[in-house]
Amino acid sequence: MHELTLLIGVTQQVGEVVRENDIDHVEAVVLEVGEVTTVVPEFLLDGWSVLSDEYDFLRGTELIIDRIPAIGHCNECGTEFALDENEGRCPICDSSDRYLVSGNEFIIKEIRILE
Ligand SMILES: [Zn+2]
Repeated sequence: MHELTLLIGVTQQVGEVVRENDIDHVEAVVLEVGEVTTVVPEFLLDGWSVLSDEYDFLRGTELIIDRIPAIGHCNECGTEFALDENEGRCPICDSSDRYLVSGNEFIIKEIRILE
């Protein structure tokens, strides 16, 4: 389960921010996770509940997952469309020649702390 590896990376990055800014405790971490990544949000949440307990600054910290829809850009006609709803084909010209505009994200969007 590579979610755990990803989460360890997240705790390391959050840890750096915490140290640099002299923060005692993190309230919530918001992740952007694209639909076409192979990351399973449920596994992230499960892993988080275990991992966050290992660090004082993350104990009880909520993990919020922001799913980013997979959007393609048609190379034939320039239409942007949801890959999911259209099974990867352009709804206008039926081309499957497209590139991914969004949906491949795995990033820390926000680290929330109590003021
Ligand atoms: Zn098209």
